[in-house]
Amino acid sequence: MAKHDSNEESIEVTCPECGAIVRVPIEEAEREMRARCPNGHDVELAKML
Ligand SMILES: [Zn+2]
Repeated sequence: MAKHDSNEESIEVTCPECGAIVRVPIEEAEREMRARCPNGHDVELAKML
């Protein structure tokens, strides 16, 4: 059984506060319209979709 990072559709965004890469599943992105950066920042996703 092979593993693929792209198995689940996700998007990558860069946190505007600290520049960290944040990966969030598209389903969650569409529902929440934001992602949580590893450093605790909220990243708005509205403009990415
Ligand atoms: Zn951040």
